Amino acid sequence: MQRVSHWVNNKVVAGTSGNTGKVYNPATGEQQSEVDLATVAEVDAVVAAAKKAGLEWRSSNLSRRAEIMFRFRELVVANKNELANVLSLEHGKVPSDAMGEISRGIENVEFACGIPALLKGGYSEQASSGVDVYSIRQPLGVVAGITPFNFPAMVPMWMFANAIMCGNTFVLKPSEKDPSAPMFIAELLRQAGLPDGVFNVVHGDKIAVDRILSHPDIASVSFVGSTPIAKYVYETGTKNGKRVQALGGAKNHMLVLPDADLDMAADAAVSAAFGSAGERCMAISVVLAVDSIADELVEKLKTRVPKIKVGPGTDPTAEMGPLITREHRDKVASYITNANGEGANVVIDGTGKAKDAGFFLNPSLIDKVKPGMKCYDEEIFGPVLTVMRVKSYQEGLDTINSNQFGNGTAIFTRDGGVARQFQFDVQVGMVGINVPIPVPVSYYSFGGWKASLFGDQHMYGPEGINFFTRGKVVTSRWPDPRTSKIDLGFPSAR
Ligand code: NAD
Repeated sequence: MQRVSHWVNNKVVAGTSGNTGKVYNPATGEQQSEVDLATVAEVDAVVAAAKKAGLEWRSSNLSRRAEIMFRFRELVVANKNELANVLSLEHGKVPSDAMGEISRGIENVEFACGIPALLKGGYSEQASSGVDVYSIRQPLGVVAGITPFNFPAMVPMWMFANAIMCGNTFVLKPSEKDPSAPMFIAELLRQAGLPDGVFNVVHGDKIAVDRILSHPDIASVSFVGSTPIAKYVYETGTKNGKRVQALGGAKNHMLVLPDADLDMAADAAVSAAFGSAGERCMAISVVLAVDSIADELVEKLKTRVPKIKVGPGTDPTAEMGPLITREHRDKVASYITNANGEGANVVIDGTGKAKDAGFFLNPSLIDKVKPGMKCYDEEIFGPVLTVMRVKSYQEGLDTINSNQFGNGTAIFTRDGGVARQFQFDVQVGMVGINVPIPVPVSYYSFGGWKASLFGDQHMYGPEGINFFTRGKVVTSRWPDPRTSKIDLGFPSAR
């Protein structure tokens, strides 16, 4: 049985605890490897390595950091097919989805390559007589990232590229369900010339997470995962004096107004709901269809959904792969099975596919969902598109705003005025106008509102730089014998 171990000081380090987790190939349902789960002492050893490396790394010059990051970017591009294969084997991604994840990750690395230009501070010459004032941004020290299963390459890249370029050293605790992509990335960082201890991977479960949250030498924690864990990580980490950004779950609505191009809206909803088998925090989960076009829109969805080709990542023509585990597949299936009993209308039931050995479901479509039904109230995180019928734009907007989550949303309309009003009124962090998955490009920042984000700094982009640095302001006077005198008054500029 293959074993996935930790990565410390640019080397694979075997776990010693004997605690391991099972890693499956979701397309076959078979266990393909086991992953070491760290003890407290093992986490401590990784943090110690990162702390030691930080002494030198924080003094490394910006050009050297950028040179390494540029080289890493080239290595990811050169090895993208292999990385896609790793993603496919453990996560189940089909080739187009795996490539999409890698290219969005590369965008973050490219942004990070330009960080030297963004770390410039302000300078006020002659703020007082002979006194200059300037601001600088400095790294935090050892920073940690805890990541989910659904983007095992891209989400770590959201975090470590900026963190390392800002002069921090990094400890990554990836999802134990698909731990190999971060190891692949670690090896590429080594090849790019990143010094020992600057990027480390510790695999683990709650024991490792809890040690990260309490470790005195960890300055900040970046988390992406489900809402209950995000809330726990935020509360525990901040209680222990850490800076925390914790991104949680989602329930993304797409409001379709009567003037929208319904074919375009149906294509967009199907792509955004079933891409990556719905295991995306930006997936569209609910279409809000205004009554007058609801029947027509559902009809259009109904013809499109069964055409999606479900299959393993090894099939180059497959459009949608399996779910991550058997348990998750069964949980997703239960939302579909229970929906009719709750008063919804299951138009397409994909649970027949659950008989396969792999963790597959076929895409499902549920119409006439309402608040109070489980398939509406909870994050499903699977290939299930639901439709809620609303009387008007206002009812659609109110529905979105009363939902506990606020990650992504979209409006489909040809009316620019209404779209602009929507962007103004909607209580959601990332908004699409005729764009179903509005993931911000890397030079903006990513993050939701409400139960989708705990903390006040979004991920990557400019807010990523803020998160991984802290400001210092220097007030400086150089001795000038012409102005020297004793003055006991409070220093002021006038
Ligand atoms: P998860 O919350 O189960 O796990 C995320 C991380 O937390 C993993 O590293 C895991 O090991 C750790 N963890 C799990 N249970 C823990 C516990 N009890 N105590 C401490 N640590 C624990 O999430 P997941 O299933 O891996 O990922 C799917 C979820 O992530 C979905 O809810 C999805 O919406 C969310 N997600 C959000 C975003 C976003 O940007 N908002 C992006 C991707 C995924």
